[in-house]
Amino acid sequence: MTGGRFILASGNKGKLREFREILEPMGIEIISQKEAGFDLDVAETGQTFEENAFLKASAICAASGLPTVADDSGLCVKALDWGPGVHSARFGGGKSWTDQQKYMYLLERLAGVTDREAKFVSCICCVFPNGDVLRARGECPGRILDAPQGTGGFGYDPVFCPEGYRESFASLGEDVKNHISHRARSLAAFAKELEKYADR
Ligand code: IMP
Repeated sequence: MTGGRFILASGNKGKLREFREILEPMGIEIISQKEAGFDLDVAETGQTFEENAFLKASAICAASGLPTVADDSGLCVKALDWGPGVHSARFGGGKSWTDQQKYMYLLERLAGVTDREAKFVSCICCVFPNGDVLRARGECPGRILDAPQGTGGFGYDPVFCPEGYRESFASLGEDVKNHISHRARSLAAFAKELEKYADR
């Protein structure tokens, strides 16, 4: 059992749910930035997932004085030169668009495209008040479906089918997603880093 209590630097309820479902069985407690009283909107000005995860975790850690973990994640589509990537939350009409508008726009952009290879990426950064930083990354390969499927999950889940499956993350449900997703992988790697850090 790894243990510890961390603020999650995110306002995304889907991410918060997945962090808790994946980390709580390992004895890691997650408090949202809102529950902790530090509901800041940190500008994601980095060029990479790693940079943005660090920006979010370090800003909330500096404000709260508590160990803080952040995930920067996104969908990378081969036919879009591996975009939208770090711009996934701002794809199409930006943050004012709903998740459904964004994934329908993605399907429009891929109309007639036969190579639908894609991957989800999640980069975790954990910042401690003494300045120590832990990092972890996870990827989930798959493809973009022709039409949305299912009602579970969040974001682009209805249009992403993970490798080895025939249904979208939204159809497969959280038990399957939380075993194979980019976030399941990055958080498993993070838990290992945390164990090494605690044993130093
Ligand atoms: P972030 O808050 O900047 O990391 O934004 C991540 C973006 O990628 C959001 O638009 C999410 O909808 C999308 N995204 C990240 N992880 C997932 C996932 O597990 N499923 C679906 N969409 C995701």
